[in-house]
Amino acid sequence: MIEINKNLCDRCGTCVAVCETDCITVYEAYIEIDNNKCISCKKCVWICPVDALTLVTEEK
Ligand code: SF4
Ligand code: SF4
Repeated sequence: MIEINKNLCDRCGTCVAVCETDCITVYEAYIEIDNNKCISCKKCVWICPVDALTLVTEEK
């Protein structure tokens, strides 16, 4: 799953444009990632200009 550092994210929307599965939504005050749709491609992690996104491994 992708973890969002809400202190770093400025809601620029760059990550939304690269996400092939449309799981990122930008709201006025925060962004949200639907981790059920996320395929962990890391494109959003690489593109984010402020490094606000991290791919974390799920513990089951
Ligand atoms: S690219 Fe980074 S800063 Fe921009 S909306 Fe996405 S997570 Fe936030
Ligand atoms: S890792 Fe890929 S599928 Fe998941 S939110 Fe980022 S761009 Fe979308």
